Amino acid sequence: MESAATRLEAVNANIARICKPARREVDDITLIAVSKTHPADKIAPLLAAGHRVFGENRVQEAQEKWPALRDAYPGAELHLIGQLQSNKADDAVAMFDYIHALDRLSLLKALAKAMDKAGKRVPCFVQVNIGDEEQKGGCPIGELPEFLGKVRDANVPIAGLMCLPPAGIEPAPFFAFLAKLAADNGVEGLSMGMSGDYETAVQLGATHVRVGTALFGARGG
Ligand SMILES: *Cc1c(COP(=O)(O)O)cnc(C)c1O
Repeated sequence: MESAATRLEAVNANIARICKPARREVDDITLIAVSKTHPADKIAPLLAAGHRVFGENRVQEAQEKWPALRDAYPGAELHLIGQLQSNKADDAVAMFDYIHALDRLSLLKALAKAMDKAGKRVPCFVQVNIGDEEQKGGCPIGELPEFLGKVRDANVPIAGLMCLPPAGIEPAPFFAFLAKLAADNGVEGLSMGMSGDYETAVQLGATHVRVGTALFGARGG
């Protein structure tokens, strides 16, 4: 079994290897280690190896695991990468440094209110339903400019766009499309790419890759 620290080195090396031909700077890419479902004792080795950026998809799970980890390893940065219900907005704003799945007006309103109450602005990625899939979250492509306008009006900082391309199809065209939507709408960040396709995402402009399995091994295993 490879250690988590060894896997971290390998993923960072892959990102660096892709950056060169893609004419990108390694420092412009943030590796989010997706630690959802993994217990604190599997996360601690990555923190001990110096990694500080992590992703969780459930507010309650993060509340259970992260206060103690943050005490033990100062400087950890936590990203909420999963769907968020409006009634958890207060807890999400309190716990996370970034939120990745802002995709609808009701959630925008709840988050803006929570941020006002907390006196803290949490930068959000606007999730785009890039494959136009009925069952998936994300702002419809045609509504993106209007929704981004509403996010700006609500004084919620926009960290970038985020997508989860359809499963089982070559993801590159969807990543390229998300990059074009970001450029067309004056948005800088791009949260795209997971364990199976983060190298492709980096080639196509990802600023944030969300990698779980390649760092921690299979979930629920
Ligand atoms: C779980 C998850 C990931 C990480 O997936 P891996 O394939 O394990 O790298 C990335 N993004 C989101 C939104 C997720 O829910």
